[in-house]
Amino acid sequence: MATALESKAEKHVKHTECFIGGQWQPAVSGKTFETINPATEEVIAQVAEGEAADIDLAAKAAREALENGPWGEMDARDRGRLIYQLADRIEAEAEELAALETLDNGKPIGESSKVDVPLVVDCLRYYAGAADKIQGETIPVRGNYFTYTRREPVGVAGQIIPWNFPMLMVAWKWGPALAAGCTIVMKPAEQTPLSCLRLAALAQKVGFPDGVINVVPGFGPTAGSALVKHLGVDKIAFTGEHTTAQTIQREAADTMKRLTFELGGKSPNIVFADADLDAAAAGAHLGLYLNQGQCCCAGSRLFVQESVYDSFVERLIEMNQSRKVGDPFDAETEQGPQVDKAQFDKVMKYIELGKNEGAACLTGGQRVGNRGYFIEPTLFGDVDDGMAIAQDEIFGPVMSVLKFKDVDEIVARANNTMYGLAAAVWTRDIGKAHHLAAKIRAGTVWVNCYDVFDAAAPFGGFKMSGIGRELGMKALENYLEDKTVTLALG
Ligand code: ADP
Repeated sequence: MATALESKAEKHVKHTECFIGGQWQPAVSGKTFETINPATEEVIAQVAEGEAADIDLAAKAAREALENGPWGEMDARDRGRLIYQLADRIEAEAEELAALETLDNGKPIGESSKVDVPLVVDCLRYYAGAADKIQGETIPVRGNYFTYTRREPVGVAGQIIPWNFPMLMVAWKWGPALAAGCTIVMKPAEQTPLSCLRLAALAQKVGFPDGVINVVPGFGPTAGSALVKHLGVDKIAFTGEHTTAQTIQREAADTMKRLTFELGGKSPNIVFADADLDAAAAGAHLGLYLNQGQCCCAGSRLFVQESVYDSFVERLIEMNQSRKVGDPFDAETEQGPQVDKAQFDKVMKYIELGKNEGAACLTGGQRVGNRGYFIEPTLFGDVDDGMAIAQDEIFGPVMSVLKFKDVDEIVARANNTMYGLAAAVWTRDIGKAHHLAAKIRAGTVWVNCYDVFDAAAPFGGFKMSGIGRELGMKALENYLEDKTVTLALG
């Protein structure tokens, strides 16, 4: 039976069409697709299935808004004020938005209301304040000239986001793009389009001019690919799998689009014997199981120093055994379902692979119940570096624990992955902490903590984990072009 919150969330499904040029409209083809509640496997709503024709309309609306609408002429401070107003509006409707997110994605309501929505608001406020702080330089050049740079919006930004933090990814993408003065065509993930559509409606309510923000729901190979190839789109910001990013790179070559990618990871989480082991165990648990393990920065290779390995694994087992898996609308729930059947099947496949490769399955390994995509918190011990569960991004509640001897050995093993998104080190030895922070090839290194995110702190990947950085003032660069202007002084 639906809980009160769940029924309330269903009432909040108000927007299921494409949002283009300030209008809600069905897909040109008339097609729709189903978005599913992953906790019940029931259809929540039919959503417009945008394709190339819809992307074309959205790109044109975004271009018109950029070049001929009030947006292009607006003072930076007024752009900032609109972003602040969007943040305020989201805060005012926090309960509704959190419920919508939980309905569509399956994440526990405690997380969507206490983590996702507050981070969305914080991120937008950060970039609201950044809008009027984008400025160029004056440059001393040889000769009698005056040279300065202007920092101009890159233009129409195409943004493609995944389903694991649907609303937060909107904020990470809209915040810097709007602060920089771009206009946007966003394609949300097909699994979770609802919160993005709702945010577009709120943006319109607070007064964003028509065409500044356009949302086209649909699938990657059709709507996403059309956005990547569109001549009228200047940039693609993408978060998702590295294999998708490779396709995007190829497809974007013809139009020379600016590209930034935030991709997957297989992040090492390294626990030394001299660490605060209670804190490290709690951090390891959070770092992997948060959001059903569906985090690009999940600490999915947990390295534990051999002298404390057995006792540490005991702590992990205890935490997994008491983890509450179930109805995401129950405030006590810590773990909801995986986002859809495809992800559920993928995670179960890796659990089987881990068992077949000879890792010790210490907790979990099974589906929970027979309705919804729930999986037990799963823990593999005795994992070798070469096993698939130690190399591939599983994106589910599956932790691999590996044993290590000393600091000399751990750097190479931590870096033995094609990814480089995040890492963590747990130790009381400050020298060791800084040594590893320097040696590990990853965009973020946490010391004695995990999953600490802040709108001001840049986030992104080395190696196959991405190009460019999200968040912080760095992310503004993704949406700006520098123009050099030189005047002869007579
Ligand atoms: P995941 O496996 O986590 O869904 P994807 O990289 O497949 O990761 O998806 C992330 C986003 O990229 C989604 O919005 C998806 O629709 C989109 N996408 C998938 N394939 C393509 C593609 N060929 N071109 C553009 N976008 C794509």
